[in-house]
Amino acid sequence: MRKNSNKKEVFNYIYSNPGTTKQALQMNLNLSLPTINSCISQLMDDNLIIHSGMEKNTGGRNSKEYSINQQLRYSIGIDITKNHISLVLINLSSEIVDYIRVKKKFSNTESYFIQLRELIKTILEKNKVELNNVLECGIGLPALTNITNDKVVYGEILGIKSLEVKEIENYLGLPCKLYNDANAAGFGETWNYPPTNTTFYLMLSNNVGGCVLSHGEPYYGNTLKSGEVGHLRLHSDGKQCYCGQRGCVDQYLASKQLSRFTDGNLEVFFDELPENQEFRTIFDAYVIDLVETLNAIRMVLDCDIILGGYVGSHLEPYLHTIQEKLDRRNSFGDKSDYIFLCNQRKESIAVGAALPSILSFIEEI
Ligand SMILES: [Zn+2]
Repeated sequence: MRKNSNKKEVFNYIYSNPGTTKQALQMNLNLSLPTINSCISQLMDDNLIIHSGMEKNTGGRNSKEYSINQQLRYSIGIDITKNHISLVLINLSSEIVDYIRVKKKFSNTESYFIQLRELIKTILEKNKVELNNVLECGIGLPALTNITNDKVVYGEILGIKSLEVKEIENYLGLPCKLYNDANAAGFGETWNYPPTNTTFYLMLSNNVGGCVLSHGEPYYGNTLKSGEVGHLRLHSDGKQCYCGQRGCVDQYLASKQLSRFTDGNLEVFFDELPENQEFRTIFDAYVIDLVETLNAIRMVLDCDIILGGYVGSHLEPYLHTIQEKLDRRNSFGDKSDYIFLCNQRKESIAVGAALPSILSFIEEI
């Protein structure tokens, strides 16, 4: 038991510190050199680590450096939206090796899933990765999924009546999991946070979603609808929402509420925003609605909030303004230092959907 835990400890250290030497392991892990030698040789035999270079020592002998074998296993993450497919390939270090984004209208049909299979084939061939070395394909989508991540239970945005993972696995030839998009993105953003943190991830993308992350895991709620702040009511008798209600947050804070003024291109909206008076007026109204939503989340959960999704990754220049307004809105005089910008700005849903299989693989070492 202890032997295995030493091996895991050595692997974890090398994972977090690529190019580690035996001397560094000895100093930082408080293990004897024979124990480290034995762990290194087991990890090398298992192909989990590789000899990655030499550390040049002044005077004495040069030391071998070790890193994890990033190419040993991969995971694929897919973000399915109404009109696009994004696909990422990540390695054992959880780094993006490559990604593809194509315009493709979703349909729950054989031809759609055959196209997904072709995209997977393309990215694997391009990066010379064998299908056998892919652990899993995690699929994030704007839908509610069950707790075992093998079934869509509500898929109004995509028009899904029923979708089970085994149907997709038949087409893709890989083990698959289905994730709610906001849960995937929130997990991808916070997986390496201290486990005691409770955080709310607000996804401001084509649709608005959210995820409560507690002790490193999404909190799903009693009926899997936790974090669905897109359907809080912002304006009584407001715009019609796809859920059947009126005035929902989704209808005011989804990215298309800004990008519809620039032919669907959010980058152009934010590029032109500083100089465009009409856009400034639109964005000021957006910020008022955002602040109202953030205040409601804070009141219920009293935790840190991450601004994520397409809009969240453009908010850096406006964070101070948002925080000032939020300070004024707070009933208890809380300072809004609990608001953070997302770090994962590229393909956050796909990366978050790809991560669990990599983390499980490492956990089992
Ligand atoms: Zn709604």
